[in-house]
Amino acid sequence: MSKPPVTDPRRRIPRTDALLSLPAAIDARKRLGDGTVRATIRAAQDAARRGELPPDDVEQAVVDALSGHRASSARPVLNATGVVVHTNLGRAPLSPTALEAVVAASGYVDVELDLRTGTRSKRGAATRAALVNACPAAGDALMVNNGAAALVLATTALAAGRAVVISRGEMIEIGAGFRLTELIASTGARLHEVGTTNRTHARDYADALASDDVGAILKVHPSNFRVEGFTSDTSLAELRDLGRAHDVPVVADIGSGLLRPDPLLPDEPDATTTLESGADLVIASGDKLLGGPQAGLLLGDPTLVQRLAKHPLARAVRADKLALAAMEATVGGPRPPVWKYLHADSENLRVRTESLATALGFPVVAHDGRVGGGGAPGVPLPGWAVRLPVAAAGRLRLGDPAVLPRVHDDACLVDVRCVPEADDPRLLAAIVQALDEL
Ligand SMILES: *Cc1c(COP(=O)(O)O)cnc(C)c1O
Repeated sequence: MSKPPVTDPRRRIPRTDALLSLPAAIDARKRLGDGTVRATIRAAQDAARRGELPPDDVEQAVVDALSGHRASSARPVLNATGVVVHTNLGRAPLSPTALEAVVAASGYVDVELDLRTGTRSKRGAATRAALVNACPAAGDALMVNNGAAALVLATTALAAGRAVVISRGEMIEIGAGFRLTELIASTGARLHEVGTTNRTHARDYADALASDDVGAILKVHPSNFRVEGFTSDTSLAELRDLGRAHDVPVVADIGSGLLRPDPLLPDEPDATTTLESGADLVIASGDKLLGGPQAGLLLGDPTLVQRLAKHPLARAVRADKLALAAMEATVGGPRPPVWKYLHADSENLRVRTESLATALGFPVVAHDGRVGGGGAPGVPLPGWAVRLPVAAAGRLRLGDPAVLPRVHDDACLVDVRCVPEADDPRLLAAIVQALDEL
């Protein structure tokens, strides 16, 4: 590249060392690291070289970029969709208590150390105790990376090289193209399908147990769809009796992670009832209706749980210390945001929505929220929304704070169910800004 002539304005582009010595850059290097700061400086200089930024503005551009730079590119979003467990927004938001636990666990921490004796202790013992305390029907508990990992660990440890019996009515796809059956087959267990889509009887399971080398009976809660009409299912009590007769455990994947029944969601299975009804082992996610961090829970018979905990694969799917801390705080602490949003007081929702609508001059419409995350399909959560022009949606997503509304019926609907009440003023400001730009 030839040197620019003396009169070339590009000669006025500030040099890297001058920009690095700006107070904002020195401060940002401590916060963000050298690489990020240098990359930011380079980007501003390059823009000036291309003529997209006047050389005299480079310094200010660097200062602005560094002050707005976050340590992570994950942008917080106000969830104005009314969908409580929103998969694209990271499922369950953590409670303040869980967040405090994550911060405390982020440094050196006694996750595998007994401070009294100075010797090694069992990883995750406090989380296990909290889970068993919250779900006494489970004799023991193990937490792994996520629900899918829990399923892989259970089927591998109990049925590798053998058969897993599953009803054809429960062979589900959980989202993003992942099918539980393919997941199980990938573990080296064989699927032994029984029954039909709508009806599976106890004798179907009995025939499989009599004719095949079965490692586990798997019962999956078809969480994201419903089969209605001429249907028939085999109860957990029948499966337990069949399993006992052949010394085969009954594993129930309940999906959503409710530990106890929730009267608001009568069709949603919970770990306590499932274990009491006959399952030997329950599998659930941690970040759906349980409202905790991403995790897979294995709850139930202590002998089975220990068998899984000792399997080599358990190490490959183990939970990290941050998630263990967040889970302990979630199950032992106050109700998490997911529970609060599900059980939001409808009168309070109406008052908040109306005050937002009045300030904006747009109408309130009835709007049903959803459980989301593939849970409780078809269960409406009655509430309200402010109805805005559909063009506001894109502006809201790109605003500050970012707001995700629901686009439906050719309108942009703002539902406050899953917005913390303390954020109502920020939500209003973001909407005013978005409408201004239309
Ligand atoms: C969500 C779900 C899973 C997968 O759990 P992840 O935590 O997403 O890995 C498995 N089974 C059922 C029934 C589910 O609903």
